[in-house]
Amino acid sequence: MTSIPEYVKEIINTLAAAGHEAFIVGGCVRDMIRGAIPVDWDIATSALPDEVKALFSRTFDSGIKHGTVSVLSGGDVCEVTTYRVDGEYLDNRRPSEVTFSGKIEEDLSRRDFTINAIAYAPSRGFVDPFDGRGDISRGLIKCVGDAETRFGEDALRMLRAVRFAAVLGFSVDGGAIGAIAKLRGNLADISAERVREELCKLLCGEHPQAVRLLHETGLMYYVLRGRAFGGELERVISWIEDLGGSDSDAGRPPLSLLLALFFSWTGGKCECILRDLRFDNRTIKIVSRFVEFLPKKIAESRYEIKKLLRIFPPEEFEDLLRLKEISQGGCLEKIRAESRDILARGECFTLRGLAVNGDDLAEIGITGKAAGEALEKFLDAVMRDPNLNTKEALL
Ligand code: ATP
Ligand code: MG
Repeated sequence: MTSIPEYVKEIINTLAAAGHEAFIVGGCVRDMIRGAIPVDWDIATSALPDEVKALFSRTFDSGIKHGTVSVLSGGDVCEVTTYRVDGEYLDNRRPSEVTFSGKIEEDLSRRDFTINAIAYAPSRGFVDPFDGRGDISRGLIKCVGDAETRFGEDALRMLRAVRFAAVLGFSVDGGAIGAIAKLRGNLADISAERVREELCKLLCGEHPQAVRLLHETGLMYYVLRGRAFGGELERVISWIEDLGGSDSDAGRPPLSLLLALFFSWTGGKCECILRDLRFDNRTIKIVSRFVEFLPKKIAESRYEIKKLLRIFPPEEFEDLLRLKEISQGGCLEKIRAESRDILARGECFTLRGLAVNGDDLAEIGITGKAAGEALEKFLDAVMRDPNLNTKEALL
């Protein structure tokens, strides 16, 4: 079991010394039991938000509507949330109101899966009313209570089930799978941002076979915002596995590469799907560029490589080669070596790298469109023969 950091213990102790209950809850308890390092440590407490704020000198209201106060301790932040129960759910996604509660068991019962509904405090041990520890040891993602009711309350939970399968390598309980088959259409009501977050976490998971589950449950269609998956599922899964395998030393592969493989079949449609999922512009640009160039053949000539270096920044070009090796097989080592050599020698492949600029052309009376065309011609010549990149030769 992973040990709890001192600052988290101190926060729990401070709350306890003031007569309140406090436990670590949710993902951090699950990860601690699995021996993994939790991303963040969340605390649930019987103290009301104002009582929490009164006990710590540095706090801010990070989600005060839901009873969450962030407590700062040194350079660390810990979210402290008052026990709560959710009211009636509206439109398959939001509780109409949240009510604070004095009982940890009530707080645990509003949580999505048994593995996420365990509380722990050093002085109290585990509070685990739904046998979350049993399900962790069985590798099972199971709803707290009736799956249909819980997915009916919040449709995102269906996608979260598949996401946890991808991250933890667990299987999803049969009852939950059956409930997804009935209720998957409700995912259409969930905001693109929340769906996107879960998709990203899913793709970054160490068990990309869960993409198959996404497909089999029919959730894929809603993740793609009302589009059918048009790729070869098993190939896409094995590419994502290969990408992860090739990155084993450096942690998980970058999201943009995972997205490029996942969306590799979309061709020109890639950009609108990413837009519908509210990805940021930078990600949309990088991923669509990868998807566009994935099927294109790269010639081994230095000239052709420079044309690509004009489009892709150097690291991205290396990433493109890696994606192509994974999706098309073969080894592009020669192209990789050539591109590195071009960069090492500082050979010119951009207008900015030319020995001549617009001002030089203006001096000899070439301006406007003609100047632009001349510079493009110069660049083309210089990309074929680097020796030409001097003022004298070009002018
Ligand atoms: P991660 O390691 O990815 O952060 P996590 O389990 O901490 O995983 P979060 O999304 O950070 O997941 O949520 C924290 C906790 O809040 C969960 O463990 C779960 O108990 C509860 N939770 C989050 N989202 C929901 C939801 N949609 N419905 C019910 N409970 C939820
Ligand atoms: Mg979390």
